Amino acid sequence: MLTHDDSLRSVSPPATGAEAIVIGAGLGGLAAAMRLGAKGYRVTVIDRLDMPGGRGSSITQGGHRFDLGPTIVTVPQGLRELWAVCGRDFDHDVDLRALDPFYEIRFQDGSTFTARPSDDAMRAEVARLSPGDLPGYDRFLADSERRYWFGFEDLGRRSMHRFADLLKVLPTFARLRADRSVYAHAASRVKDERLRFALSFHPLFIGGDPFHVTSMYILVSHLEKAFGVHYAMGGVGAIALAMAGVIASQGGQLHLNAEVDEILLENGRAKGVRLIDGAVLPADVVVSNADAGHTYDRLLRNHPRKRWTPAKLARKRWSMGLFVWYFGTKGTRLAWPGVGHHTILVGPRYKEHIRDIFIRGRLADDMSLYVHRPSVTDPSAAPPGDDTFYALSPVPHLGIGTTDWATEAEPYRQKMQKMLEDRLLPGLGAHLTEELVFTPDSFETRYLSPYGSGFSIEPRILQSAWFRPHNVSEEARGLYLVGAGTHPGAGLPGVIASAEVLGKLVPDAPARPALRMAAE
Ligand SMILES: Cc1cc2nc3c(=O)[nH]c(=O)nc-3n(C[C@H](O)[C@H](O)[C@H](O)COP(=O)(O)OP(=O)(O)OC[C@H]3O[C@@H](n4cnc5c(N)ncnc54)[C@H](O)[C@@H]3O)c2cc1C
Repeated sequence: MLTHDDSLRSVSPPATGAEAIVIGAGLGGLAAAMRLGAKGYRVTVIDRLDMPGGRGSSITQGGHRFDLGPTIVTVPQGLRELWAVCGRDFDHDVDLRALDPFYEIRFQDGSTFTARPSDDAMRAEVARLSPGDLPGYDRFLADSERRYWFGFEDLGRRSMHRFADLLKVLPTFARLRADRSVYAHAASRVKDERLRFALSFHPLFIGGDPFHVTSMYILVSHLEKAFGVHYAMGGVGAIALAMAGVIASQGGQLHLNAEVDEILLENGRAKGVRLIDGAVLPADVVVSNADAGHTYDRLLRNHPRKRWTPAKLARKRWSMGLFVWYFGTKGTRLAWPGVGHHTILVGPRYKEHIRDIFIRGRLADDMSLYVHRPSVTDPSAAPPGDDTFYALSPVPHLGIGTTDWATEAEPYRQKMQKMLEDRLLPGLGAHLTEELVFTPDSFETRYLSPYGSGFSIEPRILQSAWFRPHNVSEEARGLYLVGAGTHPGAGLPGVIASAEVLGKLVPDAPARPALRMAAE
């Protein structure tokens, strides 16, 4: 078996003179940098934050590490493959733990549904809530697997920038009823509303309205069943740091606390970037991991755009915003024993609540929460004996909502605390220590996300695949896009796949003249 250092030596890419710049050190940007490094480019990743990871970064306060965004790692083979392309071993660099249970859903009526890796356990849960729905559940899983092979393994791993590619897949879309929503598909298979929720809420994790997002996304049920739900010890930030380590080993560098002001073009070709402080960095290839909206609206503002004009971007449906309350609790490690790593606390309304968020743009009084408690798995998340949590509520993004978060954040947080005290964490208020609140305003200012949206452009059918901003830019040669706002979409598996697509589009770095001569 190769040691870590051996593997580094054996695969170091040939140093070439070709330079690549990646704007944004989100997980998509870091994965893109790794792919380009493996192709022989000398890569510089630029991010305005002070650490890599983007939404997957963290803030530590009073010994509590608040992992700001992603918590659930699915499809670990995507990461392993990425590492392997760079001649490295993912499991050497990151301690990934498979979780059992995956998560618990607590409904308003007091009933629960616990998602687990074992088929038998899942079928027992379905039977416990609604025995008559078992055959429908089995059919749903089979539907999910079919959509996985097409939507994830085929469509999601190749570029969809040619209209002909879209035409070729339309018959399959039609056959798989991609026009139907995730919820409609779940409702066609099971009758119990709680099960319909359990089988249809997943698009919310990538910014989609379950009542409108294409039913292709039911593939998530198969992803979970086949490959599990995982947690990275040290949080997703530990994956980002490990990626930064691979990039450094390839001779690349991270330029943090630096914001790109503009992508520079010469005769329609990307030639580099200018930073806010005026510094100009030339490059042969420019990749933007900044939000696709920010890339076209702001970074290419001085160049006429053919497809992604400000008006067109404004007409897109953007994913919802997020209100996230991060908090630490003192001396609670043994308290709330039934509360595991991931809990979904369902509010009184589903469809109408989702309409409030996505369609009406109204901040509702009720809420449904996703609650993260990493300290049950990872002692590094909190001081000994204490806990670290976050509670997340989907809310309207700034483009449709009229909420003034400067005044609404605290009352909303208090409502959230009351719901948690009533239904999950009794006595919470007495234990609170550190806390931090993110509203859509925070997403706009920290990540430069248009409308403060949590997941960029919503993954509706007419905003997916060819309809999404392409991985190879429509606006400038030598410019590529990765990350949530491009194909295939948001979520860690999506943005890692966007870098895989990039790897298929960008040519290998040209060999150094000396090497070329030697070869001749
Ligand atoms: C609260 C939350 C929970 C989530 N939970 C999960 C989960 O459990 N599982 C999952 O798979 N997914 C989850 N997601 C989704 C997932 O985190 C994102 O889709 C993914 O991390 C986005 O990665 P990205 O590559 O698009 O880049 P981002 O993380 O959006 O990073 C983009 C980076 O670009 C930088 N940038 C932007 N403009 C500039 C500029 N002009 N100059 C320099 N830098 C710039 C930003 O600072 C940022 O660091 C969650 C998201 C959130 C917000």
